[in-house]
Amino acid sequence: MLKIEKVSKIYKGGKKAVNNISLDIKKGEFICFIGPSGCGKTTTMKMINRLIEPSEGQILINGENIMDKDPVQLRREIGYVIQQIGLFPHMTILENITLVPKLLKWEEKRKKERALELLQLVDMGPEYLERYPHELSGGQQQRIGVLRALASNPPLILMDEPFGALDPITRDALQEEFKNLQRTLNKTIVFVTHDMDEAIKLADRIVILKAGEIVQVGTPDEILRNPVNEFVEEFIGKDRLLQTRPHVELVEQIMSRNPISITEEKSLNDAIKIMREKRVDSLLVIDEQNVLKGFVDVETISEFRKKATFISEVINTEVYSVNQDSLIRDSVQKILKRGFKYVPVVDHNKHLVGIVTRATLVDIVYDSIWGEEEHQIAEMVEMF
Ligand code: ADP
Ligand code: MG
Repeated sequence: MLKIEKVSKIYKGGKKAVNNISLDIKKGEFICFIGPSGCGKTTTMKMINRLIEPSEGQILINGENIMDKDPVQLRREIGYVIQQIGLFPHMTILENITLVPKLLKWEEKRKKERALELLQLVDMGPEYLERYPHELSGGQQQRIGVLRALASNPPLILMDEPFGALDPITRDALQEEFKNLQRTLNKTIVFVTHDMDEAIKLADRIVILKAGEIVQVGTPDEILRNPVNEFVEEFIGKDRLLQTRPHVELVEQIMSRNPISITEEKSLNDAIKIMREKRVDSLLVIDEQNVLKGFVDVETISEFRKKATFISEVINTEVYSVNQDSLIRDSVQKILKRGFKYVPVVDHNKHLVGIVTRATLVDIVYDSIWGEEEHQIAEMVEMF
């Protein structure tokens, strides 16, 4: 799909920002470029959509040299998301999302339908269409930035540190959301980051850059297991827990499969009964289709016992969940650091399928720490 052949970039003044890189990217692949600041990531991205022209080498998209294409046309066929979001402050969300469709002269009706469809992908409703960027949170604005890149349905999307400016929790949420989105949309994505956690979480293959050159290319697992040199090792970070445990990798392998739950239309009294029976202080709330909706805890119930009757009235919908096929190494530290007592596990349709508790994690963490890194156990234990 995208072929980078012996590409170099020398800026005016002689700075060699990119030095002879070659890479074949397959259709539907999620590639992460990662490396320290100034290693040539942005330069590489901009050469792909011809915001910058290579000094040497060539770039082919589906066999066609991009230099043979009209640059404006080319850019409309490639989605581009950048860290600074780049939403236009005086345009509504609708206008911002449908910038490229407008250039492509879509009719109003089609643009609006597309915008609605896209907003739905990130669980945002039609009420956002007429709002302005400053009325949205940073995370929502960045979601709109991503949607804008998807608007005309381009097969290739470039993302240059798109989540870099977000706070860690919003960033996690967007990464998770985006990974799911990618599964359904099957785009080819070139994603730049300087955050190894992000690369490991998102990438099919990671490309590690240093001073304009490719140091290593491989799947996250290959890179974690066989870093080619000290630079890569350093980059991976010595504190990456759970990375090399061979047999247990996915959350579904450690989760408990009978989470204690209650449906929304049940009463608070039902909830109290279940909590008492099962000796738990919190229940996951699901709908009739077993879709996770939130949770209720004993404090809330006792507070609202006189004022509310049904679970749906007191449900807390701010529930953090993980996917059953996400990697344990991605989930563990997050769960521990945030101090959750448990985290519900869902499938790709948000059906509740299990639960991971802190107790389970303690076992896993102990089991998986190897050799000389024992001091880390002590650190981890302090977090419980
Ligand atoms: P990254 O995105 O990995 O941080 P960049 O691709 O932005 O790196 O930059 C790579 C190198 O090229 C850096 O040393 C940077 O200072 C230099 N550079 C970037 N843009 C220009 C420019 N327009 N003119 C001269 N040097 C540049
Ligand atoms: Mg950059």
